[in-house]
Amino acid sequence: MIYDKEQKEIASRMDNKSKLTNWKDWKWQLRHAIRSMEKFEQLTGIKFDDKERVNLRKTFDKFPLSITPYYLSLIDKKNYKNDPVFKQAFGGIEELTTLQSELEDPLSEDKDSPVEGITHRYPDRVLFHVSNICAMYCRHCTRKRKVGDIDSVPSKDQLNQGIEYIKNTPQVRDVLLSGGDPLMLTDEKLDWLLSEISQIPHVEIIRIGTRVPVVLPYRITDKLISILKKYQPLWINTHFNHPNEITTSSKEALAMLADGGFPLGNQSVLLADVNDCPRIMKTLLHKLIQNRVRPYYLYQCDLSEGLSHFRTPIGKGIEIMESLIGHTSGFARPTYVIDAPGGGGKIPVMPNYIISWSTNKVILRNYEGVITTYKEPDSYEARVCDRDCDICTLDLNLNEDSEMEAVGIEKLLSDHDDTISLVPEHNDRLHRRGENE
Ligand SMILES: *Cc1c(COP(=O)(O)O)cnc(C)c1O
Repeated sequence: MIYDKEQKEIASRMDNKSKLTNWKDWKWQLRHAIRSMEKFEQLTGIKFDDKERVNLRKTFDKFPLSITPYYLSLIDKKNYKNDPVFKQAFGGIEELTTLQSELEDPLSEDKDSPVEGITHRYPDRVLFHVSNICAMYCRHCTRKRKVGDIDSVPSKDQLNQGIEYIKNTPQVRDVLLSGGDPLMLTDEKLDWLLSEISQIPHVEIIRIGTRVPVVLPYRITDKLISILKKYQPLWINTHFNHPNEITTSSKEALAMLADGGFPLGNQSVLLADVNDCPRIMKTLLHKLIQNRVRPYYLYQCDLSEGLSHFRTPIGKGIEIMESLIGHTSGFARPTYVIDAPGGGGKIPVMPNYIISWSTNKVILRNYEGVITTYKEPDSYEARVCDRDCDICTLDLNLNEDSEMEAVGIEKLLSDHDDTISLVPEHNDRLHRRGENE
C-alpha cells in the first residue's frame, strides 16, 4: 500500500497504535474524525492564538466541526489560510455573520415536505433524506442549520414513512437519495432501503447524492459496489469543488464506481476564494472527465445562514460559464443553476447567445465573439397541437396522462390552452381590476 507524505504525517501524530494499517478502513476514519480545534492543532501542527481560539470555539458551538483524517491530510499546512480544503472543512468566525437576506431554510425544503424526510418539489421526482450523518461537515453546507443536529441514522420506521409516500405517489419515477450522506448508512441498511424503493413499480431510477468519494473515498468498497449493482439503473452524483480533491485515493474510488457501471455526475458549489476562478474550474472539470465523471451542476451558493463569506455575485458564475462554453468539451461543462429561494427549484443561467431576431433571421454570437446569422425557413407550417395525439401525423405512440398537460411557460407556448399570462398571486394591478381572487 502506498501512502503519501501528508497521510503518514497525520497518521504518525494519531495517539493510538493502529495508525497506518487502518488508514483505508472507512470506519476507522470515521471513529477518528477530527471534532475539536485541539485535535486539529495536534494533528496538523497549526497553532491558533488566544483570540482565534475564542472565536473558533464560538463558531463550532453553533456549527460543529468534523473532518476525516484523510480529508485533513489534503490541507497544505504551510499555507493553510489559502487552502481550499481547509476553507471547506474548518471554517471560522465569518460563519457567525448572518445577513438579513439569509434564511434558515432558504430552499423551503421543510415546507415542501409531505412527510418527514421527503421533499417533493418537482412533479416526477423526490428528494429523500435518508441519513443525518456526513463523513465531513462541509462549512458551505446548504443544510447548515441541521448539521450535527441529530447525529443518528433515521430508524427503519422513519424511512418507511418516506417509502410509503413514494409507493402512494405514482407520479414519482425518480428517487434521489440525499441526507446527510446516504453512503453513511451501513451496507445492510442501504441494501434494505434500495431494495424497498426499487420494488416500487413506478420508480424508474434511483440516484444517490454523496460526498464520500471526496472526503472518505475508502467507503467505496467491493462489498458496497456489489450491493449497489443489484439496483441498476442507479445514478451517482458526487461533490468535488476543487482539483486538489482529486487524489490517488479518490481516483480509485471513482474508478470502482465507474467500473461498477454507475453513471457518475458531479455537483460543485461556486465558492468565493475556493473555486471562483475560470482556470481552477476548468482544471477541476477536466480532471473529472478524465475520471469518467460527467460534470452535472455548478450551484450558485445558497442563501443559508453563515455562508455569506462563500457567496459570489451571479456574474462570476456567468463569467465562468463563458470561459467554458465553446472553449472545452461540451460534456465537461456543468449547467450553472441558482436554486430559487423560497422553493422554486433550480433555475439554469447562462450568458446570452441570441443577440437579436426578426421574422426570418436570428442573429447569434459564438464563444469567440463572431456574430452570425441563422436564416429561418421561408415556410414552416406550424402544426397546431390540441394534444389530441390520435389525429396527429407525428408518431408518438404514447398516450399517458402525464404527457398531456402543459405546465408553466410550456403552457404559454402551447396551442391547446388559451392562457396568455401567468400572474403571481396578490398582483395589485389585477386586484384593482377585481380579477385576481
Ligand atoms: C435538486 C433537486 C432535485 C433534482 O433535480 P434535478 O434537476 O432533476 O437533478 C429534486 N428535488 C429537489 C428538492 C431538489 O432540490
